[in-house]
Amino acid sequence: MFGWIWRGIRTGVLTTHYPDRPDSLAPAFRGRPTIDQARCHDGACDAAVAICPTQALQSTPQGLRLDLGRCIQCGLCAEVCPQAIRMTPDFELAVQQQCDLVLNVDQIPDEEQVVPVARQALAQRVKDLRRSVHIRHVDAGSDGAVEQEIYALTNPFYDIHRLGLFFTPAPRHADVLLVTGVMTRAMARPLRETYAAMTQPKLVVAAGTAACSGGIYRGSYAVLDGVAAVLPVDVFIPGTPPSPLSLIYGLLLGLGRVAQRVPSQPSEPRENDIVVNPMSEPEGIAHSSVAVGEEDRL
Ligand code: SF4
Repeated sequence: MFGWIWRGIRTGVLTTHYPDRPDSLAPAFRGRPTIDQARCHDGACDAAVAICPTQALQSTPQGLRLDLGRCIQCGLCAEVCPQAIRMTPDFELAVQQQCDLVLNVDQIPDEEQVVPVARQALAQRVKDLRRSVHIRHVDAGSDGAVEQEIYALTNPFYDIHRLGLFFTPAPRHADVLLVTGVMTRAMARPLRETYAAMTQPKLVVAAGTAACSGGIYRGSYAVLDGVAAVLPVDVFIPGTPPSPLSLIYGLLLGLGRVAQRVPSQPSEPRENDIVVNPMSEPEGIAHSSVAVGEEDRL
C-alpha cells in the first residue's frame, strides 16, 4: 500500500496538459505531408501523384493539391519525391467544413485562424456545451484502428475526463456523436436513428480518414464514402488513425474551445477544384443488390 503511494509521489503527474500546454507525438508519427513543389525535379511529383493509393494527392492546373480527408499517411509520396514532399508530425488537422480538408501546397500557418462568421453558428449552437459533455461512439464500418485511439482517450495519460468529456452508451444522454469507419450502407439507418435519439444541441464528429471520405474503400459498392453522406457533420478529424491528441483537438474544436489551424476555404467549389465527397452513388452500385434511396440519407 505505502509502496504504491510512494511510487505515485515519486512518479508525479504524467497526464498530458494538452491543450493548455503543447504536447507532441513520437517522432515516427506521420501527420500531414508538406509539399514544396519548387524543389521537385524530374517529374518526381507526378510519380508521387501516381503512387498515392487514395488519390489524396492530385495534380491541378494551379499545382499539387492534397486532400487530407483522403490521405492515409502512408508516406509513399514522400518516399517517391523526398526532395519536395515530407511527412510531418502535425496532428491538429481537424476542420469544420469538408472543403477545408483540401489544401494547396502552401504551408499551414502557425497562427490560429479567426473562426469565420459562417462558423460562428456552430459556436452559438454548442455554447452551452462546455463541461460534462457526453460522447456516443458509433462504429460505422471501421477496421478497429480508430477505436484503439479512442480507448486511449480514457487512460491516465490522455484522461479526457479532466476536460469534462465522458463516454456514454445512451444516445439520449449524448451531446456528441463520434462516428468512425467508412460509413457502410448497412450502418446508415442505425446511425441516423442514433442521431435522431439525441437531444439538441448535438454535434456530429467524423473521426478518421475513413469517416471523412471512405478512405481506401472510397468508391466501393458497400460504402457511402464517409459520414457526410448520411448526417450533417460538424467536425472532420482526418488521420489513419488520428492520434488521441488529434481526437482531443477535434472534439474541442467542435465545442469551440480551440481554434481551427487548417486554413479555411470558400465553401463553394472553385473552378478546377477537386470536389470532395459529392455524395453521388459510388461506382459499382449497379452490381449491388442493395440500393440506397433518399430515405437512407437525411
Ligand atoms: S501520404 Fe500516402 S495517402 Fe497521403 S498523399 Fe502521400 S501517398 Fe497519398
